[in-house]
Amino acid sequence: MATALYNRYRPRTFAEVVGQGHVTDALQRALRSGRLHHAYLFSGPRGCGKTSSARILAASLNCIHGPTPEPCGVCEQCTSIRTGSSIDVVEIDAASHGLVEDTRDLRERAAFMPASGRYRVFVIDEAHMITPQGFNALLKIVEEPPPYVVFVFATTDPDRVLATIRSRTFHYQFGLVPPRVLEEHLAHVCREEGVTVESTVLPLVVRVAEGSVRDSLSVLDQLLAGVGDGGLTYAVAVARLGLTDALLLDGAVDALAARDAAGLFGVVERVVGSGQDPRRFATDLLERLRDLVLLEAVPDARERGMLDLVPADQLVRMSAQAARMGAAELSRGADVVHAALIDMRGTTTPRLVLELLCARILLPAAASDPASVLVRLDRLERRLTLGDGGAPAAPTPAVPVAAPPAPAVVAEPVGEPPVPEPVVAPAGIPPAEVGPPPGAPGALDVGALRAAWPRVLEVVKAKKRLTHAVLDRHAEVVAVEGQQITLLYTNPAMARRLGEGVNTEVLLEALTEELGGTWRVVASTGAPAGSPAGPVLPSVDAATWGDPPAPPPVVAPPVADGGFAPGDEPAPDDPDDPDDPDDAVPDGRPPALHGEDAALALLRAQMGAAVLGQVDNS
Ligand SMILES: [Zn+2]
Repeated sequence: MATALYNRYRPRTFAEVVGQGHVTDALQRALRSGRLHHAYLFSGPRGCGKTSSARILAASLNCIHGPTPEPCGVCEQCTSIRTGSSIDVVEIDAASHGLVEDTRDLRERAAFMPASGRYRVFVIDEAHMITPQGFNALLKIVEEPPPYVVFVFATTDPDRVLATIRSRTFHYQFGLVPPRVLEEHLAHVCREEGVTVESTVLPLVVRVAEGSVRDSLSVLDQLLAGVGDGGLTYAVAVARLGLTDALLLDGAVDALAARDAAGLFGVVERVVGSGQDPRRFATDLLERLRDLVLLEAVPDARERGMLDLVPADQLVRMSAQAARMGAAELSRGADVVHAALIDMRGTTTPRLVLELLCARILLPAAASDPASVLVRLDRLERRLTLGDGGAPAAPTPAVPVAAPPAPAVVAEPVGEPPVPEPVVAPAGIPPAEVGPPPGAPGALDVGALRAAWPRVLEVVKAKKRLTHAVLDRHAEVVAVEGQQITLLYTNPAMARRLGEGVNTEVLLEALTEELGGTWRVVASTGAPAGSPAGPVLPSVDAATWGDPPAPPPVVAPPVADGGFAPGDEPAPDDPDDPDDPDDAVPDGRPPALHGEDAALALLRAQMGAAVLGQVDNS
């Protein structure tokens, strides 16, 4: 049976100790200059080289060429210390030998001269487990040892080591091994072992090992057992380690950024369906959110060596995710996941907790705690900074302003009764929950919208890739007037396609999520200003104009006919005919609001009223 990797790759010289240069350099300097102490305390996390360094120190002292900072590794002393057969180097585990008798025994053994080496070295592991009585039995010899005795106390918990021990030792603190260093070490081991490992596997191992060399080698050992000629693949490693696939995490975060409940719960379904532990998924999600928080705060985190384990292509996706979610939402999301992880500890239904976590994280508007309010403020602020440098909010619903100096691309609002801009400025209408307060959003001009457009497209992409593809390649922002955005399409077919089914809904939702407010999108099919325009995408304002404003969905579904009203057919089909009267844009056409709708509009505009509910009088 092959020996374990971590035994085979146990360091034999100080140079081979991974990632603890600050300790090994100091020890080597002391050995070189002969300034040795008789008692050392090595503290640090498990599996990061404390015991190995103690053995190397023993070999340095007893090597026939020593004392030397570089033990030869081949002499009788060096080999016997390495194999644990040296009678002059004694390793004791205080966890099982904390008792007084053992320390008395130790004291007696320390009184003997070394049998073959220069020094008797006592390595006492888990030194925090030594009882006060046990240490009292040792005290005398640790305080005034014979010149040939050296003690090395090793512990994971230096604060629990008796003060009497600490005060009599030189304290060296070992640290967790930095990810990049650990990954290089693992790559070296894989080369030595002659196994092929996909480049994305080692970062996983490093993550699981949490900075411990020994743990990382144990994990690698398990993964390599049973690996065939094809080498070790990412898929196999993820499955064996029970980790969450990065793609699932991407799906979860994208859904979160787009506040897409169906998407997020779909990911949970896949996680549970694949037999993965919901706790593990929540842990991995928390880790991802932490990375995103970091990326949001320090965009060049990777160049600064902070996100060593993230592959470059993944980093691109994550940067976009961080920008979309914003600092407040990320931080609040991490809080929610963290709290849920604590809840999951004792529960027998972790899946339930995970689903509740998803619900909570999706709805900052439903919570009134400071973090949730901050998230909503953050969204508003992003919206405001888009409109010229955060223009102050208008105190009252804005009066329709003159059109911006954008190309006078004209379009015909059809489908729903056109919105009566002369009466009410749509900017003043609060859209359900996450939108701006009445009259708040800074007016967007076409430049600001173009600047924000890539982010809008990102949101669209997270919702529907096809819609994104069409918009990305075939549409361009040409004008913004109030809440109306005019898009120029490369051809009528594309404009028509965007007007179909769910595409419009997706775009309008994305606009609301990214910019706040409610929007209308009008299509133009490439004709110069003043010429016929293409079809109009259905407006979301239907909701704000008369239907009861259902609280949760920010955006109402578009009209059923996909945005084409009767009599509009020529527009998309015949964009080149500038004289087609049907295509002319009725800029001044009076809005067709009737009865209750008109009254509501007036109430909104003049008194800032909002519809809370509607009674069916029929
Ligand atoms: Zn030697």
